[in-house]
Amino acid sequence: MRKPLVMGNWKLNGTKQSVSDLIKAFVEPANRTAGKVDVAICAPAIFIGTVESLAKGSSLQYGSEDCDIHTKGAFTGENSPEMIKEFGCTYAIVGHSERRGYHNESNEYVAQKFKAALDSGLVPVLCVGESEAEYDAGKTMEVVNAEIKAVIDLCGIDSFKNAVIAYEPIWAIGTGKTATPEVAQNVHRQIRDFLKTFSSEVADGTRILYGGSCNAKTAPELFSQADIDGGLIGGASLKAPDFTAIIAAAEANA
Ligand code: PEP
Repeated sequence: MRKPLVMGNWKLNGTKQSVSDLIKAFVEPANRTAGKVDVAICAPAIFIGTVESLAKGSSLQYGSEDCDIHTKGAFTGENSPEMIKEFGCTYAIVGHSERRGYHNESNEYVAQKFKAALDSGLVPVLCVGESEAEYDAGKTMEVVNAEIKAVIDLCGIDSFKNAVIAYEPIWAIGTGKTATPEVAQNVHRQIRDFLKTFSSEVADGTRILYGGSCNAKTAPELFSQADIDGGLIGGASLKAPDFTAIIAAAEANA
């Protein structure tokens, strides 16, 4: 039985005040649903210490939006997985399409980030997904499977026992164009089938989140799909009532 995970991704958003308001608002639903749902927030690195203090003693989990492949050294501006772990993070998102796109992160480089996060005791959240042109050309699974295969090649299939996959069609991120439950479920099932070609145990146990304009309205039906194990939530995680409603949708389907 896979425990649903609802994870916010704040991206480049937030102030000291909004971080404080939102984390305080999320502690209660995270505590209330803790037996059934994992709730997490991935925050900009500069706010992770604040999140740590505010979430202390609660069931609210948290993580980073990215991590570097190195443990230390002359890599100005980067955050190592060890640093992230020291601040109590559970997760590190790797391979978000905004990182892949704006920072030219290849599948192999993302796999190195995945490995670095895992080696430090973090749970990597591997984002995969196709562009609109790739979707229109019927290349979704070719793209997604290649992104996953790069990780399997470097880290082995068993690495997914301590990791999460987030399927995020790029055409749905921040656009308001949520994938229909049928489209999303179809891709999630094919991702699980792909994992199954390596290990049935891993395929059955791996949480696969949906991300891409998921909101309080669309979450209930998306989360009711057999292979959708929660959501990676961008914009709606910056609004307390919306994110709380999304947590409730996951709870209802747990
Ligand atoms: C994301 O960037 O991970 C995301 C899912 O964003 P949004 O929910 O805003 O589409």
